[in-house]
Amino acid sequence: MARKQEIFPKKTAEEIKQGKRIVDYARLGDVIDKLMNRFNPEEECLRIYNAKRQTTVNLLPAGWDVRKFKAKGPRVVIMLEYNLFCTEDGLEKIARQGLTPVKLREGAFSRVEKSQTLSGYVIIPPSGDDKRARVFSLVDCCKGAKLYSYIVNNLMPKDLSSEDYVKELKKFIKVYDERDSPREVERMGAFAIVRVPSTTPKERSHLIRLDGIPVVDTKHKYSIAYSLVSDHSCLDKKFRFAFPSNFQKNKFMCFHDMAAYLLVIDYCWHRDKNAIPLEQSLFALPTQTTIDLFNLMENNVVIRYRTQSGRLRDRPLNEGEQEILLWRLVGMEGHDETFFARQKIRDYKW
Ligand SMILES: [Zn+2]
Repeated sequence: MARKQEIFPKKTAEEIKQGKRIVDYARLGDVIDKLMNRFNPEEECLRIYNAKRQTTVNLLPAGWDVRKFKAKGPRVVIMLEYNLFCTEDGLEKIARQGLTPVKLREGAFSRVEKSQTLSGYVIIPPSGDDKRARVFSLVDCCKGAKLYSYIVNNLMPKDLSSEDYVKELKKFIKVYDERDSPREVERMGAFAIVRVPSTTPKERSHLIRLDGIPVVDTKHKYSIAYSLVSDHSCLDKKFRFAFPSNFQKNKFMCFHDMAAYLLVIDYCWHRDKNAIPLEQSLFALPTQTTIDLFNLMENNVVIRYRTQSGRLRDRPLNEGEQEILLWRLVGMEGHDETFFARQKIRDYKW
């Protein structure tokens, strides 16, 4: 992986178009197919625009801007059988069936249709003190995977033994699991304070407290997983809370939270051979196919729009539009091809 500016480039439309052949494309339903199959990223730039009729093409719902869409757009609801989670017998049944978060996502994602316009997925915790809905976006899952990969590939030495890798991880995981008793960890999950670098050059790191990390192998891990909470705030989260109804009901999880959680997954695995945080991850882990598409959207796609004065201009896709296209990919390819990572994320081609 290269330097921070190259990994998180925030390109302008001019930079995306530079030296490339512009291919105007207006069939929204086929944008993903076009990018993945008959497209040369070295030479082409896809511009979402109906050149024949000289009309711009909207991905976001009419009248919505990206902020409103990210804060309030329609989401996939991951349904839990809440009555099962509230009793010991119910939890045993869930444990027997192995109903991990990824299993539930698999069911919910497989029902997504490629024509749906979605802004993320949401889960309401069955237990714990904070029952606000946990809200996730696929864009954040891609960016979180990228940030984690940047940390372990760029900020740590290569080819470390497990023991040395844990030492390196400790530079980021400031505190891990310091509850009063093992029983508390079993019932409430572990907590960690993790330092996550900013993706903007020269900006300060985020110090993130994650609580409710399932780490003990009992039936309670199945309910603790959904109580995961983070005390982190960033500009993106603050924007979403500009819509007051969100403050009461929703807890947004951003890509910084995901990068922190992925570091904890690594820490538990390399220190204790404990795979439970991975098994119970609420964050959907993107595949290489999904990351390839995400990178294409960042580096090879612009959208044509009309300014208030009626002039035509190009701009990069915003995160709302990227999110909509990622869900179309899920609708086309299904859960396993898109958000069920089988390889190590750190080894992806970024
Ligand atoms: Zn954040």
